[in-house]
Amino acid sequence: MERTLVIIKPDGMERNIIGDVIKRFESADLRIVGLKMIKADLSLMKKHYPDSMIPILGEKSVKAGAKVKDVNKQGKRVLGWLRKFMMSSPVVAMVLQGENAVKKVRQIVGSTDPSEADVGTIRADYSNDSIAVANAENRTVRNIVHASGSLDEAKKEISIWFKDNEIFG
Ligand code: ADP
Repeated sequence: MERTLVIIKPDGMERNIIGDVIKRFESADLRIVGLKMIKADLSLMKKHYPDSMIPILGEKSVKAGAKVKDVNKQGKRVLGWLRKFMMSSPVVAMVLQGENAVKKVRQIVGSTDPSEADVGTIRADYSNDSIAVANAENRTVRNIVHASGSLDEAKKEISIWFKDNEIFG
C-alpha cells in the first residue's frame, strides 16, 4: 500500500470539478484517507514547491518550445508564477491510499503540459492550456491538479500538508 498527495489547484476549484476529480480516483480503487480545503501561504508554498525545482521548471519551458535564453532564470520566473497562482484561491488537498498509488495517480492525472497529456486523463480532459501559451502570457500552466511524482516526494509532501492525526488510513 502506498500513499500519495493530490491537490486540486485554483483552476480546478474555479471549474467546479472537485467531485469529478475525486470520482476518478475512487473509481480506480484509491481510498481517500485525508482531505481538506486550505488557502496556502508563502511559507507552505516554499516547502511544497522549493527553489530546487528551478532547473526542472526552466527545462519544461525549453521542451515546450518557449524562447528561453537562460534556463535557470526562466525556472525562477515560472516558480514565482506557480507559487502566486497556487495562493490565489483555496485548494483541496487529499491523501490517497492504495496499491501503486503514486504511479496510478500520475497516470490518471496525465502529463504536466495538458497539450501533451493522453486523452482520458484529468489534465487532457479538463484543461486546454499548454506550457507554450502560458509562458507567452507570463503565467504558470493551468493543469487542474498536482500529484506527487515519486514515493519519496509523496512522503515529504504529505507531511507538509497534513498532520499525522489528520490522516485516517
Ligand atoms: P508536475 O506538476 O507534473 O509534477 P512539475 O513539478 O515539474 O510538474 O511542475 C509543477 C507545476 O508547475 C506544474 O504542474 C505546472 O502547473 C507548472 N509548470 C511546470 N513547468 C512549467 C513551465 N515551464 N511553464 C509554466 N508552468 C510550468
